[in-house]
Amino acid sequence: MHNETIAVHGGYNKKEGYGSMAVPITQTTAYAFRDSEHAANLFALKELGPIYTRLNNPTTDVLEQRFAQLEGGAAALCVSSGQSSIFYAIANVAQAGDNILISDKLYGGAVTLLTHTIRRFGIQAHVFKSEDASNLEEQINDKTKAIFFESLSNPQIAVADIEKIVEIAKRNGVLTICDNTVATAALFNPIKWGVDVVVHSTSKYTNGQGTVLGGIIVERDGLAEFFKENAEKYTEFTTPDDSYHGLVYVDVPLPNFCLRARLSLARDIGAVQAPLNSWLLIQTLETLSLRVDKHSDNALEIAEFLSAHPKVKAVNYPGLKTDKYYDKAQKYFKDGKASGLISFDVESFDEAKRVIDSAKLFSVVVNIGDSKSLIVHPASTTHSQLTEEELTKVGVKPVTIRLSIGLENTEDLKADLEQALN
Ligand SMILES: *Cc1c(COP(=O)(O)O)cnc(C)c1O
Repeated sequence: MHNETIAVHGGYNKKEGYGSMAVPITQTTAYAFRDSEHAANLFALKELGPIYTRLNNPTTDVLEQRFAQLEGGAAALCVSSGQSSIFYAIANVAQAGDNILISDKLYGGAVTLLTHTIRRFGIQAHVFKSEDASNLEEQINDKTKAIFFESLSNPQIAVADIEKIVEIAKRNGVLTICDNTVATAALFNPIKWGVDVVVHSTSKYTNGQGTVLGGIIVERDGLAEFFKENAEKYTEFTTPDDSYHGLVYVDVPLPNFCLRARLSLARDIGAVQAPLNSWLLIQTLETLSLRVDKHSDNALEIAEFLSAHPKVKAVNYPGLKTDKYYDKAQKYFKDGKASGLISFDVESFDEAKRVIDSAKLFSVVVNIGDSKSLIVHPASTTHSQLTEEELTKVGVKPVTIRLSIGLENTEDLKADLEQALN
């Protein structure tokens, strides 16, 4: 089935229940068991079914199945935000004493989470160059549990060398986790390129209207074999889980990664998605590919306009033939479309602030992927918690302005930028 079809039909059987055409919202905290044996069977995984909305929910279940199909994965787990999807994905495989390797081009929240917060839990993150993975392999050791990178990064708008990262990871038996938020499931499916686990902030393009905070984790088929092959490294999956009466995940015939994240992390930490948010995301997912095509077309036009503007010093947009990531965008993304993020440099820090304050149609907002166009100064906002050294490392300059191009008419957007730049 093609992605546009999956986005509308996947994971839902309308012939069940009342035959409701729209996926119903099951707005409930808990579920009645038939009897005590049914309850015991559900907890023992002898039978599958809803227990409590912190563990599963029928509305969320449809979104999980639909999204897993869209990404070409085996299973998915919805969580309360993109941040919690990253945390769960890492915490699912790493514990105190372990390390992970993270891309030098990441979202600011991911940088603080993965370099500062998880260090407090004893997990060290080391940085590698995602552009060519040139210093990736040399940093892998027997405590390296995961390689984390963004396919198309926010806010640097860099495309990772996905093929090379995956090849090195496979050779060394290390799990790959790709944040696919900006490229979106409509333009790129990391699992089809061999990535093990995909995470998304569904708050961005998947929602597309700036109304929902959500995250999702998707795993590829066959991860149990991978854990068994690397049994000494991934003991969380290959040895009994004391917190689940000795369950050994690789022995369970269900996709292992989401199962463990659900049964242990969602259970214990509880950053789960509300059913109403799942329902809203089911609505917006239907138009994902239409919207992302339009975001991409609009962004290319604006990037070309900015490139020709005398007040603009540099433009980053992988859809531009002159961009250093153009070839990778052509190689990986559907029709070479590069989503809706653009960054550009102006003369100075003060000029960047002046341009932002002069924009009228563009709203000054830290979000991305909204139908409304947004403008932001990463150095003083999304990335302001990073030190100057960290800023340089993640490629955020004081003169850089980031745009998230919406679905408005491009003539209006260009007119607004023109007056703001002058
Ligand atoms: C926004 C974003 C996140 C965090 O998502 P939230 O839903 O805001 O928690 C993670 N990764 C990327 C690439 C993002 O753009």
